[in-house]
Amino acid sequence: MIYADNAATTKTCAAARQAMLDGMERFWGNPSSLHSPGQQAREALQAAREAVAGAIGAQPGEVYFTSGGSEADNQAISSAAKIGALKGKKHLITTAIEHHAVLHTMDRLSKEGFDVTLLPVDGSGIVKTEDVAAAIREDTALVSVMYANNEIGTIQPVAEIGALCRERGIPFHTDAVQAAGHLPIDVGAQNIDMLSLSGHKFHGPRGVGALYVRRGAPLLTFIHGGAQERGFRAGTENLPAILGMAAALDDAVAHMAENSAYVASLRDALIEKLSAIPHAALNGDRGRRLPGNVNFCFEGIEGESLLLLLDDKGVAASSGSACTSGSLDPSHVLLAIGRPHEVAHGSLRLTLDRDNTMGDVEAIAKATAEVVNYLRGMSPVWKALQRGERSYVIQ
Ligand SMILES: *Cc1c(COP(=O)(O)O)cnc(C)c1O
Repeated sequence: MIYADNAATTKTCAAARQAMLDGMERFWGNPSSLHSPGQQAREALQAAREAVAGAIGAQPGEVYFTSGGSEADNQAISSAAKIGALKGKKHLITTAIEHHAVLHTMDRLSKEGFDVTLLPVDGSGIVKTEDVAAAIREDTALVSVMYANNEIGTIQPVAEIGALCRERGIPFHTDAVQAAGHLPIDVGAQNIDMLSLSGHKFHGPRGVGALYVRRGAPLLTFIHGGAQERGFRAGTENLPAILGMAAALDDAVAHMAENSAYVASLRDALIEKLSAIPHAALNGDRGRRLPGNVNFCFEGIEGESLLLLLDDKGVAASSGSACTSGSLDPSHVLLAIGRPHEVAHGSLRLTLDRDNTMGDVEAIAKATAEVVNYLRGMSPVWKALQRGERSYVIQ
């Protein structure tokens, strides 16, 4: 099986597995206990916090461990909104292409009386800093713009947006779940006040993530109870998972430059090969995209059948985000970049990583071309297009 769905999850790396074993075999104590096993666990926890902080240019005291990216997004946004509301600020700004962990938190807050501005993106999926500037109001409590998109891979101008928010005195959150371990992050230089990341998107374990909150940025207690996570998130820490995530992030950051260059070369080769399929279009920006992200629309076919047939041919891919697969709604991201419904349904996301090879790229391209051909042969829409009874959306 060729695994090309690394945006959904990645395979746990050896460093993460070893650190998790250590977490169970050596650091099984409760970090809150005063005896030696507790102290050893506490030291391991502190070392993991330092590693995660170091990877993003933060201080260890600014990192809160969570159950994953979704929790980090929920807590960052809810905290900033609720603290803003205390000062009469009930306006939130985000984008139309965020992950559902952000969008559904925003929906919930809008039902609670917050006013949410969803910024559009351009045809390549990039948010314009001028649009953020124009949306800011006196009562804006938070701006949340993702670092890199999980479906089409576009990288947003977070440093520019961060600088703008800093100048206007508005907290800035970024969902960096797809970026962490893959793209350089420096929360200081990029003026990021809050940042979410998740272990299983960079070869760490799932069910663990982190929220960075700049000292002084708005944060509410998210789980009440003990004093863990400086009193903001009670509950005995999931040390094996935290250690696994920290080890995976260390490993990813240490090899980021070479991995990115290698994975981007695979990505570019795959984009070139798939572009040769007639009436196919790349989704997202050609240059400003994650090193491993390839996302195409193929006119006249259904994404779901494409995936199942690719799976039969030994290629594990996705039609968009793992969260929307299985539902019949086309991707909100593809609609936001202007793809019409019928075209958005025929999308394919292939996300490569350091474990893939050029041989994989060739096999994926061959399998995709065959499957697209086969499905078009049975598609009434494709036949109508060919007979000229309908016109092509993708030239
Ligand atoms: C995967 C993902 C999340 C959710 O992270 P979990 O750890 O799975 O909860 C949030 N945002 C983005 C952009 C993601 O890709």
